[in-house]
Amino acid sequence: MTEVAIVGAGPAGLMAAWQAAEAGHEVTVFEGSSDVGGMSASFSIEGQRVDYGSHRLHPSTPPHLLEAIRSLLGEDLQTRQRNGRIRLYDKWVAFPLRTADLFRHLPLKFSISSAFDIVRRPFLGANEDTFQHEVTRRLGKTVSDEFYTPYAEKLWGFHPSKIDSELARRRVSASSPLTILRRLIKSSSPSGRAFLYPRNGYGQIVEAIADAVISAGGKIELNSPVQQIHLNDGDCHLESINGRHIAELVWTTSPLNILPTIVRPKPDKNVTEAAAALRVRGMVLVYLVLDQPQFTEFDAHYFPGLDTRIARLSEPKNYRDGSDPKDQTILCAELPCWKTDAIWSASNEELGNIVSDDLIRLGLPKMKLVTTEVRRLPSVYPVFESSTREERKTLLQWGNSLGRLSSFGRQGLIVPDNIHHTLAMGWDAAHALSKDGEFNDLAWSTALNRFESHVVED
Ligand SMILES: Cc1cc2nc3c(=O)[nH]c(=O)nc-3n(C[C@H](O)[C@H](O)[C@H](O)COP(=O)(O)OP(=O)(O)OC[C@H]3O[C@@H](n4cnc5c(N)ncnc54)[C@H](O)[C@@H]3O)c2cc1C
Repeated sequence: MTEVAIVGAGPAGLMAAWQAAEAGHEVTVFEGSSDVGGMSASFSIEGQRVDYGSHRLHPSTPPHLLEAIRSLLGEDLQTRQRNGRIRLYDKWVAFPLRTADLFRHLPLKFSISSAFDIVRRPFLGANEDTFQHEVTRRLGKTVSDEFYTPYAEKLWGFHPSKIDSELARRRVSASSPLTILRRLIKSSSPSGRAFLYPRNGYGQIVEAIADAVISAGGKIELNSPVQQIHLNDGDCHLESINGRHIAELVWTTSPLNILPTIVRPKPDKNVTEAAAALRVRGMVLVYLVLDQPQFTEFDAHYFPGLDTRIARLSEPKNYRDGSDPKDQTILCAELPCWKTDAIWSASNEELGNIVSDDLIRLGLPKMKLVTTEVRRLPSVYPVFESSTREERKTLLQWGNSLGRLSSFGRQGLIVPDNIHHTLAMGWDAAHALSKDGEFNDLAWSTALNRFESHVVED
């Protein structure tokens, strides 16, 4: 039996804790906030469960993880069909895109230019290593300019000509116009639009895993931000506001760019400077409580254009067949931003007005707004600036050289990954630890290489 301390009760930390506790190890999870789940948690507003933005469990979740989740949630894990819309050329088009709908709504100019792009693609110029170039190379200039360029700028706060092509590899799954066409055909059938979602909100997944941790004998300490981790020859000491904890191994899902301020001995200057150079974009989530049973029949609206700060709007009630209040609904608007932006510190009322005015201006129905609630996530989208490629590498190498400490999870590896990716990280960390307490470094570094191939599903 090995004593493992885990930093963070998000999906990655909880899955690692569950699997390690099941294998008989002594596990304690330290969570800085008052709830489990991290970005994948749910919480209640006016008696209705909401998530931190639009969340779905993708059908591409690896079978062993899906089986594990199903074993906890049973019938509560519902299979639903996506029913979203995207705003393109001032029109609403079904999203995921569907062939008939696209031809009906998109201007002829778009289709003709995209067709020309297919012919032009092989002749595209020199190999610039940027997000913009990579998307143009794969999907053509029209799709890149009209959709990805503004959307990328909205999410990451930089023009995509300043963003590393690596982010395109991790974030844009379509590799050619042919892939888009195949997807169009697939999403034109109901089964091609399927996703999974729990009856009581997305957070039901992490809550069930947290219960499984406890049932397997693990401990979860809430309100316990870990402030220092001392890495010694024979053990590790974690300092949280609740005191000192000694463990043989530490698995942390805390942001890797913050870790150099927590770990002792302190890393070299080049590591602390690399960490300081990396930027992570935050997000303000604006929840509008409406005095009406439903806003629209759609689960999500996507806004790629720069004519609004909203990136996506979701209506949680439409994601599930649950026990939501009948006469009320809630909308959640996602506004990516820097922590220094005025919008980050705007009042609830100001944010409520910005969002509701924009929605009406962009052609959505009028709403009966009762009240606005706001949540702020400081660390959502890692920005792969081309100018900080070396710094990212330096930080990852350092994070992977700390012996008794392993860093993983979306923020622990500074990646834009989905929940199923981060659950896989937690699973693989736990399964690299043998029953007799040996952490298999080779198995873990093989897993880290495998995580490199994750591509985000939208
Ligand atoms: C708006 C939005 C929409 C998304 N939509 C989807 C989707 O549809 N499908 C999908 O699969 N994924 C989606 N994701 C991604 C998904 O939420 C993440 O992949 C997942 O939550 C990451 O899990 P994690 O455990 O790695 O990290 P997190 O969820 O970030 O959890 C980390 C935890 O560690 C805690 N922590 C950090 N530092 C410390 C410390 N020093 N001491 C103690 N605790 C600490 C934090 O409080 C947090 O609880 C979305 C994310 C966002 C923001």
